[in-house]
Amino acid sequence: MRVSTEQVIVNFDGKHTATITKGTVGVVDMDENTPAVCDLCNELIGALKDVKHTYSPERFTRAILNGLLPEKILEAQLAWLNSKGRDIVAARKLLIDSWKAMAMDSETDWAVCSECSKRAEAHLETTPKPE
Ligand SMILES: [Zn+2]
Repeated sequence: MRVSTEQVIVNFDGKHTATITKGTVGVVDMDENTPAVCDLCNELIGALKDVKHTYSPERFTRAILNGLLPEKILEAQLAWLNSKGRDIVAARKLLIDSWKAMAMDSETDWAVCSECSKRAEAHLETTPKPE
């Protein structure tokens, strides 16, 4: 099985700047037992062969436009920032904006856990199908 090894990287540069990149580290041949993590919550999904929920960039972009966010990742980042005394109201907006820009720019499929898949589906269902 071929998958692209991507990860979401958040960098904080100074007080009010955040850059998030979903960098393609490389396309590698991975074993079906390679552990996979959810792109929306970072939870371990299990082995690659157990990943049941994947979304094309097009479908994922539609869910994001309907308000899909990586809530758990955001909360963890904001808790960390809060512990550093940052303004988390401003940081939240910044993180969301950066994540959306990064996510909608991504050209690879997204793998999510079953819990996040339910959220993604709910965000997809709210859109009238174009066809
Ligand atoms: Zn998840």
